[in-house]
Amino acid sequence: MEKEAATPALRFETHETWNYARRSTLTLPHGPCRTPMFMPVGTQGAMKGITSAQMVELDVDLMLSNTYWMNFRPGPDVVKELGGLHGLMSWPKNILTDSGGFQMVSLLDLSTVTEEGVTFKSPVNGEMTLLTPEESISIQNRLGADIIMALDDVIPSVTTGPRVLEAQERTIRWLDRCYAAHSRPHDQNLFAIVQGGLDLDLRRKCVDAFLQRDDHIPGYAIGGLSGGEEKDIFWRVVANTCAMLPPGKPRYVMGVGYPVDIVVCVAVGADMFDCVYPCRTARFGTALADVPGGVVQLRSDKFTNDQTVIDKNCKCFICKGGMTRSRLHQVACQEGGGELITYHNIAYMMNLTARLRAAITNGTFPQFVISFMKTIFPRRVDVPDWICNALAYAKISSNLLEEHYPANEQLVIDDSVFMTMVKEAGSGHIKSPYHVKDRNIHGFQKMRNVVKEGEEEGEEVPKEKTGGKKAKMEME
Ligand SMILES: [Zn+2]
Repeated sequence: MEKEAATPALRFETHETWNYARRSTLTLPHGPCRTPMFMPVGTQGAMKGITSAQMVELDVDLMLSNTYWMNFRPGPDVVKELGGLHGLMSWPKNILTDSGGFQMVSLLDLSTVTEEGVTFKSPVNGEMTLLTPEESISIQNRLGADIIMALDDVIPSVTTGPRVLEAQERTIRWLDRCYAAHSRPHDQNLFAIVQGGLDLDLRRKCVDAFLQRDDHIPGYAIGGLSGGEEKDIFWRVVANTCAMLPPGKPRYVMGVGYPVDIVVCVAVGADMFDCVYPCRTARFGTALADVPGGVVQLRSDKFTNDQTVIDKNCKCFICKGGMTRSRLHQVACQEGGGELITYHNIAYMMNLTARLRAAITNGTFPQFVISFMKTIFPRRVDVPDWICNALAYAKISSNLLEEHYPANEQLVIDDSVFMTMVKEAGSGHIKSPYHVKDRNIHGFQKMRNVVKEGEEEGEEVPKEKTGGKKAKMEME
């Protein structure tokens, strides 16, 4: 137990670290949470396609619920009478609610932000409604989650200019209003959200202001990311912000849920993650797995006769029970056929975070990260630069490509493969969460246009040098 911090409703103990990565226990009113932790999102007081009992079975320690929806239906007073969200959802473990602000700004065209709060057109009765920091906290106090979030001034992550500064400064003023309005600090933890866009100086100023209030802040979130910003900037904001935050308090990166992103964020010091992605993508027939690209798109015809399971290392009842990709292909192509895949995807996320924790404990964290990356990106050409940069920062590998991929690996892509990639990219049909455009096409162009004959050993070899046929054989 090297670091420990406690506020009335929270205790945070870090057990082991590997550089920035850490394994901790976050103890909340409804029991301990093991971090690094993935928090599934139950949008309207329930997970789509999965029951609370199944979530317990899957070892989920904390579920996220959206304040925005619960405020309209059934409404916070009804929820309070039903025993809060825990009673409503029959969920014995921890819950986190968001402030509602993000949904308003992102879902509603007609929302406007002023110093007073966020004004939006109610989707229920069409009236203009104002959500103030005080009202957000009052609603969350009635919903009764274990962690509640401050209302912040959310802007799209790619915003630049004076609006970023305005949002960062307003977020600090609103945080004070949130704490002043918070009526249940003894059993609800109000987290502060660091804003400041992609500007590290603004992030620093925001953290500095929060540190002056650190005594009553039980935990910190990093907001305003995962909105289409460059990945190489994304990880730097997470890493820098984590480094500025106090070591004894939990760090939650909001809206991050791609497995690779979580692995990178853990390596640079983050503890908690949430995202609708694993459940949403399941409804489109996409299963997460330790396979090249990270996903199995079960609706694809190529699984019609595939007799293997989604992921042979997965211990969920679908994979362990031997349900084949072929069977799941049939299921996934039907209306509402995503339930089994939702279950598997949550199991996958729980297993991923369990493996991260075990690797930190065992001192094998860098080996785990590298082997995971090599599973998802089996060829050098597929590994995005931002991952190499982040892993160098995390001291996991000073040069991932040179140290962990064979120097003589043949990287030439046959023309037919290339044309398939172009078609996929052009159709907007992305085969993997790691973006065909960033991965394959970019890698291919780099090989074709930049690398010339006679480059030093270990560099990509141009196609003309070896011929397509040989290249194809070596790839297989
Ligand atoms: Zn499974």
